Amino acid sequence: MKNTGLLGIAVSLPVSGSIPVLRPPGAGPDFLSKCIRCGKCLEACPYDSIRLLGIASGTEIYTPYIDTLKTPCYVCQEKCQDGDSRPIGKFLRCGEACPTNALQLIPNDLEALSRLPDKIKTGVAKLNRRLCIAWRFGFCGECYFNCPLKDKAMLPRPPSENVSGQKIMPCVNETACIGCGRCVYVCPVRRSLFGSVKSDGARPDYFRERYGAMVNKILSECGANVNLPAIKVIKYRDGK
Ligand code: SF4
Ligand code: SF4
Ligand code: SF4
Repeated sequence: MKNTGLLGIAVSLPVSGSIPVLRPPGAGPDFLSKCIRCGKCLEACPYDSIRLLGIASGTEIYTPYIDTLKTPCYVCQEKCQDGDSRPIGKFLRCGEACPTNALQLIPNDLEALSRLPDKIKTGVAKLNRRLCIAWRFGFCGECYFNCPLKDKAMLPRPPSENVSGQKIMPCVNETACIGCGRCVYVCPVRRSLFGSVKSDGARPDYFRERYGAMVNKILSECGANVNLPAIKVIKYRDGK
């Protein structure tokens, strides 16, 4: 949810300090000292993926972040009618708009994105096979099909394990993953499918119809406190 803050730009309501803050792509280790809280990245994002931290975040107030469950980063790509993606501009827009280089300039090229230097990678996806429909029931693969770096960051099967057959058994290649969160957004393993929680993520009706029975089984086994969905993005530098 957004409202208008002191700077006249959209600001998220206060967030809990327990939410790991995922920065937009291009944020390096010196991001906090360089970010002047101008909101230019938020204004430039074509998908409204960027939010600003609220008052509960203390000194990080008005700094940008991405909530992958609500709106992931689409790495400035648009879908063409033939199903392919096309870059929107030569550089990722948030870094291009940043006046202080707190978000660095990154070429909008999927090959280059899959080779981002460690110091400007912000997040990496982690898959929990115990919660994953594909690994449990041999069905799904939404994360694989929706990853902008499909076959680079998200592989159809783990290369070093003996997994045979044609089914998608998704596996994150952490070297190429940029933590955009598309996989998180489309993962159907979420309580909101069943109406007891406010809807989040993509296409709940479609997911309920297609995956509802399997998600129900997984949820009944995993307990109320398990951290969903089956795939999440964690901060890259914390993840090392
Ligand atoms: S890379 Fe593009 S889509 Fe992603 S946060 Fe930056 S401006 Fe938005
Ligand atoms: S976060 Fe998910 S969708 Fe994005 S690059 Fe990594 S594996 Fe692909
Ligand atoms: S979208 Fe979720 S449940 Fe489906 S294959 Fe990916 S991680 Fe597994």
